Amino acid sequence: MAGPPKQLGEYHRKRSPAATNEPFGDEAPLEPRAGTLSGAYVVHLHDATRRHYDLRLEVGGVLASFAVPRGPSLDPDEKGLAVKTEDHPIEYLEFEDVIPDKQYGAGPMIAWDRGSVEYLEGPAEEEIARGKLDLRLRGMKLRGRWALVKLKKSAKGDEWLLFKKKDDFSSKERSLVDELPRSVLSGLTVEELADREKRARALAKEALAIGKATSRLDELFAPKRSPLVVAASGSPSGRGFIHDADLEGVRVLATRDGDVVSLLRFDASGAPESIEAFYPDVVRALRALPLTRIVIDGDLVAFDDAGHPSAKLLAERAARIARGDLHRAVTATPVVLVATDLLLAGDADVRPAPIEARRALLAKMLPPVGFLRAAPPLEGSLAHVLASVEALGLSGVIAKKKGSPYAPREKKPSWLHVSTGAPRARVTVDHRSREASAALRKVTVSNRAKVFWPDEGLTKGDLCDYYAAIADAILPYLADRPVILVRYPDGIAGKSFYQWNVPAGMPPWVRTMSLVDEEDQPKRGFLVDDASTLLYIANLACIPLHILACRVPDLSQADFFTIDFDVKQSELRHAITLARTLRELLDAIGLPGFPKTSGQSGLHVLVPLGKGQTFATACALADLLGKLLVERHPDIATMERIVKRRGPKVYVDTGQTGPTRAIVAPYSVRAVAGARVSTPLSWDEVSPKLDPARFTMKTVPARLAKLGDPMRDLLRLRPDVPGAVAKLGELVAATR
Ligand code: MN
Repeated sequence: MAGPPKQLGEYHRKRSPAATNEPFGDEAPLEPRAGTLSGAYVVHLHDATRRHYDLRLEVGGVLASFAVPRGPSLDPDEKGLAVKTEDHPIEYLEFEDVIPDKQYGAGPMIAWDRGSVEYLEGPAEEEIARGKLDLRLRGMKLRGRWALVKLKKSAKGDEWLLFKKKDDFSSKERSLVDELPRSVLSGLTVEELADREKRARALAKEALAIGKATSRLDELFAPKRSPLVVAASGSPSGRGFIHDADLEGVRVLATRDGDVVSLLRFDASGAPESIEAFYPDVVRALRALPLTRIVIDGDLVAFDDAGHPSAKLLAERAARIARGDLHRAVTATPVVLVATDLLLAGDADVRPAPIEARRALLAKMLPPVGFLRAAPPLEGSLAHVLASVEALGLSGVIAKKKGSPYAPREKKPSWLHVSTGAPRARVTVDHRSREASAALRKVTVSNRAKVFWPDEGLTKGDLCDYYAAIADAILPYLADRPVILVRYPDGIAGKSFYQWNVPAGMPPWVRTMSLVDEEDQPKRGFLVDDASTLLYIANLACIPLHILACRVPDLSQADFFTIDFDVKQSELRHAITLARTLRELLDAIGLPGFPKTSGQSGLHVLVPLGKGQTFATACALADLLGKLLVERHPDIATMERIVKRRGPKVYVDTGQTGPTRAIVAPYSVRAVAGARVSTPLSWDEVSPKLDPARFTMKTVPARLAKLGDPMRDLLRLRPDVPGAVAKLGELVAATR
C-alpha cells in the first residue's frame, strides 16, 4: 500500500493538526492513481482574510485546489482569476466548518457545490502540467463544460483563468453565486455558518411553537411502526390536499441525535433496517444541519442527467457500493433525501401539528439545493399536477389531506395515491447482502510504512495490525464506553493531539458522543464497539486508547475504579509491594482486583463495581484504600499531590476515577519507546521478576493466544459493594 500522497507536504506545513479542525490527510486516502480521467469535486466558499471560492478537483488521490476570488461565472466571456494553491487531502470533499482563529485560512468555509468532474482532453495530471484543463462538471449547481487555462506570464504565483465554455448551461444573465449562496450540506450561508447555534436555537423555537416538548427520540421510530407502502387509491379533488410526486425512491425515516445518524427503511412486516452505510453523502449533510436532533420522513432519490428521478440509478449505485466501490459510486450518482415530512425538530415532537406547518418548517431547515431537500408541494389542480408528474415518467402523486397530523397511514387515511396510469418502476434497491455490510465497513489502512517508533522501526501498519489482532480482547473494555482519542500522525516522536471533533470523512457507522470536561467544555468521545471502528481509529494514528469508567447511556455510574502506582520517582519493586498489599486489603473487604502494567513504568489495579456505583462512592473507596496503603508503607508510598514533596516514593494516585477522568485501556499501546502495551497480569506475575518492558505490541498477541486474558472477569463480576464499603469502614476504624 502506498503512503500518503507526497503532494500534501505543503498542506501539512501550513497547518497544525492540533489546532485546526481540517482533515489531516492521513485518514483514508484513495489508492493513488495515475492518469485521472474523472473524479469528485467540491467548491468551497471561504470567508477568510479575503472572501473567495475554492475549486478543488480530484486528481491522483488528492484535491488540486484553485482559489477563485469572484467565483465561477456562467458567462463564457467572463474569465475569472484562479490561483492554484496547495493540494488538499481527499477528505476535504466533506469539509465544512469554521477554521479557528489564528490558523491558516481562519474563517468559515461552506461546501457551496459538490459533484463529479470529467477530464475531457486526457489525464488531469498531464493537463495540469501543460497548463490547460478541459472539464465537464456534473454538480448540484455547476453543470457543463468549463476550462482552466494557466497564464503564461504570471507575476506572482501559479495563476490560471477559470471560465465557462458555451453550452446549454452557459448564460450571460444568470449568476449562480448570487442565486444560490447556500451550502449544499447544511443549507447555511457562509455568514450563518459562523453562528450556527443561533440558527439552531431559532429553528428549535419555531418547532416548539407548533409541537410539544419531548426528550424521547426513540419512540418516534419504534420498531412496531407500520410499513410505509403506498396502497390506498382514490381520486380526491385538488382542493384540500397537498400533492407530492411519488418519486419511487427508497422511503426512509432519517434520524439524527448529535452525530449519530440513522436511515431506517421498513420492510413489509414493519421491521426496520439501517441503511445509512450506503448513503454517506446524505449522512454527512444531516450531520451538517444546525439542529442536532431531527426525525425526517422522506425518500432517497437518485436523479439522472435530465433531472428525473431514477430508481434504476439508485439500485445500480447500491449494487456498486455493495461491491466495495464506495467513493466512485457516491461520486458518480449522488443521492438526495427528498423530505416530505418532519416528526421531530430540536426538543419538539411536531407530529400533531398540521402538515402545512411541518412542511413549512422543513423548508426552512433544509438547503434549497443539496443532498437534503424539502419536497416542493406541487401546485395547481390535480389534473395539472398529474400531467406534470407524468411528464417526468412517474407513476403518480401522493395526496395528503391539509391540516392532518403525522400518523400511520392505516390509522388515518389522510394519504391517497393517485396514479397517472404509468407503471410504477419495479426496481429493487438491495441493501441487504452480508457481503455489502462487510465491504462497507472495510477499513483500508493508509500510510502503512510510516515509521511510528523510530528506535524499533515499528510502523503505522504494525500498530493497525496489532489492534486488529487483539480486537477480541480489547473490545469488551471499550464497548459502550466513551473512548478518548489521542492522535500521533507522525508517530511517537511527532506532535500529538486530542481528537475533539468529528473527522470530516468519518464513515456513517462510526459512533461518537459528546461529553463535557472539568471546565464544562464540550468534548467528543468515540464509541468503539466493533473491530471495524477499532481499525478506523488505529488508522487515524491513535496509539493509546483512553477509556472512562462509565458506559452509555448513564455516564454518572462508574463500573470500576483504578488505583495507579506511579513509579517515576521510585522503583517498580516498591509498586509491586504496594499492589500486593492492596490485594490483601481488597481480599479483606471482599472486592476483587485486577492488575495491569500501565504500559509506561508503573502498575494499575482495576477494581470492579458490578453494574455501577456513583463516582462519589468509587472515588471514596479508592481514596480510603490509598490512605490505608500509605499508612502501612509510609517509607515507600505517598499520596502527596505536589510532585516536589513526594520524595523518592511511589505515588499512589487514586484520582484517576471520575466522570471526566480517563485511563489507558487494557491492551492499549503506549506512545513510548519499545511500543509497550498496558498489559493485564495474573497476580502471580506481580512479583519481583516482573519486567513491564517485555509486554509490547510485538509480544502481547502471542501472550494472549497462549494465556488468555487474566482480566476477563473485571466486567463480569458483581461484587457486594455496600458490604465492602462497610468492611472498609471497620478496617479504617481499627487502624486508627
Ligand atoms: Mn481558501
